[in-house]
Amino acid sequence: MKPADLVIVDMAGRKLEGRREVTSEIGMHLLIYRMRPDIHGIVHAHPRTATGFAAAGIALDQPLVCEVVIGLGQIPLAPYGTPGTPELAATLEPLIPDFDAILMANHGVVTYGADLQSAYMKMETVEHFAQIALVSHLLGRQQPLEGAEIEKLVVARNKYQGVKSAAPMPVYACADTDTRRRSKSQSKSELPNAIVSLLRS
Ligand SMILES: [Zn+2]
Repeated sequence: MKPADLVIVDMAGRKLEGRREVTSEIGMHLLIYRMRPDIHGIVHAHPRTATGFAAAGIALDQPLVCEVVIGLGQIPLAPYGTPGTPELAATLEPLIPDFDAILMANHGVVTYGADLQSAYMKMETVEHFAQIALVSHLLGRQQPLEGAEIEKLVVARNKYQGVKSAAPMPVYACADTDTRRRSKSQSKSELPNAIVSLLRS
């Protein structure tokens, strides 16, 4: 893409300059700018691993990597909305105030930041984290960070330049991580018994 490919629009999405057409996803971009005055750059892409999670209906919401907890909190999954329609922006609306990166079901990812560079780096982080989450899933074991550790990371956010994510969710995620972990380990250990009782019946 060259500078000449850029299209300049106003806040109503009307084209002011450029030889190409306005993106069909302009509604999503304008909604984010309207809802988040702190945002000045948005990246929308379909990176293969993160989009794989979006296509599988799995949010990237496990606190598996400290860097991601600091930078993004967690990456929720918005329900599917037809691209290029107001439906798509509507699915994102409830998540935009609290998150800086969102998986879009069966579609892709959107990230946003104080400038374009930071939005781009968040997109890189989402794809990187998706690969790590996939590897830990393939290894058959995930070891999420615990509540107290997550709280320390959230406090540490203030020390890092450029980390302005409001995402309050990691601690919240962590509050039910213990429950999820318990239910996961229970379901694993109980599985053979469940199969045995099924075979016996
Ligand atoms: Zn798209």
